[in-house]
Amino acid sequence: MKIAVIGTGYVGLVTGTCFAETGNNVTCVDIDESKVKSLQAGKITIYEPGLDVIFDRNIKQDRLHFTTDLAEGIKGAKVIFLALPTPPGEDGSADLKYVLGVAEDLGPILEDYAVIVDKSTVPVGTAEKVRDRIAVNAKVEFDVVSNPEFLREGVAVDDFMKPDRVVIGTTSSRARKIMETLYAPLVRQGNPILFMDERSAELTKYAANSFLATKITFMNEIANMCELLGADVDAVRKGVGTDTRIGKRFLFAGIGYGGSCFPKDVQALAKSAQQVDYDFSILKSVMEVNERQKTKLIPRMKEYFGGDLSGKTIAIWGLAFKPYTDDIREAPALYNINQLLEAGARVKAYDPEAMENVKKVIGDKIEYSDDAYEAVKDADALFIATEWPVFRTPDFDKVSEYLNNKVIFDGRNLYSLEEMKDLGFTYFSIGRENIY
Ligand code: NAD
Repeated sequence: MKIAVIGTGYVGLVTGTCFAETGNNVTCVDIDESKVKSLQAGKITIYEPGLDVIFDRNIKQDRLHFTTDLAEGIKGAKVIFLALPTPPGEDGSADLKYVLGVAEDLGPILEDYAVIVDKSTVPVGTAEKVRDRIAVNAKVEFDVVSNPEFLREGVAVDDFMKPDRVVIGTTSSRARKIMETLYAPLVRQGNPILFMDERSAELTKYAANSFLATKITFMNEIANMCELLGADVDAVRKGVGTDTRIGKRFLFAGIGYGGSCFPKDVQALAKSAQQVDYDFSILKSVMEVNERQKTKLIPRMKEYFGGDLSGKTIAIWGLAFKPYTDDIREAPALYNINQLLEAGARVKAYDPEAMENVKKVIGDKIEYSDDAYEAVKDADALFIATEWPVFRTPDFDKVSEYLNNKVIFDGRNLYSLEEMKDLGFTYFSIGRENIY
């Protein structure tokens, strides 16, 4: 099948590459000329494990193409995916200008029937708006389908190729058949394609992300209680997570969720609720708690240094919002860096993949290290913001030798309390005893 993907970011590039891998002829379109130039030259523009291999293969086999020209990109496409940004607008609701702008552009250039698929995360009612915008100038028949994406950065290829489920919102049997054919290779193990009305499909994505954000936040609240009551959140997590009704995943306490999805999607759902006069109070709490949680270790650090961080050098391990990605959107590390800089501290950071992206945002306000040990050299404390596996079992002798003070502020609970005690570190983590 010939398909087009409009927007070639984290979702668009994975979508396009994976559908090329299942034998389709794919053209990815983006307005970012330098991005398209790199992709055309065979240079991948994001770090996503495993994506480079199938990207190379499908370019070589001439199934994966890139262009900045929308009309050229959609020529002959039976399915046109919209994988465009939906950032928060000023009032917190999802800004639809990219999605609706492209919809408007599509109308006059559609040459034949096509299914326009909304893959971006969009509020309920957007499919109708997209349909209306296209219809203004369309000369041919078309369908608009809502097909939210559930991939997780870091494991996006696996998630895309073997999704737990595919959600498709449409009432058109013609579009349904095409979508079924396209997705069939990805659900051979028997995972479902769930067909539903488009409004329910749109809401499903917000419900899923908000539920997950709530689960993380609930556990962070329990962690905060653990600290006050002398309990250990790791023990509580295991005790709770082994209940199959609750499940073991998404229960790790830490310095809050970040990323390009959870913060904006929770905010957008809260805004949608407000627009229909519904008091979605749990979501307001989730946002408030997460906001506090992100920089929770800074006051502790200040206290440790006698109330003043000015002139202190803090090493930060991890900048990405989570491991196995170079995405730094809403990364808790950045919030902590801001507070440290405001308090007059000097920051030396290391991340295996995200440093280039951080340089683009905050430049030389902080120092970047070649490896984790370089970052701790002559630092007064180590702060851990992202749970990259490489930080899990470091050479603690080296860390002790390089740090001016043997103190770790661990926002991701990477180390056991026993180990920290044995090694003689002062160790602050989340929802557990402080080790002095
Ligand atoms: P992104 O910012 O990485 O990519 C969006 C791309 O669209 C950019 O390359 C941008 O240049 C391009 N673009 C903007 N305007 C354009 C236009 N008029 N024509 C062509 N290209 C244009 O965003 P993303 O992370 O891929 O997210 C896209 C959507 O998918 C969002 O709605 C997001 O909420 C949703 N989503 C993201 C993830 C994720 O993990 N990143 C997961 C599921 C759903």
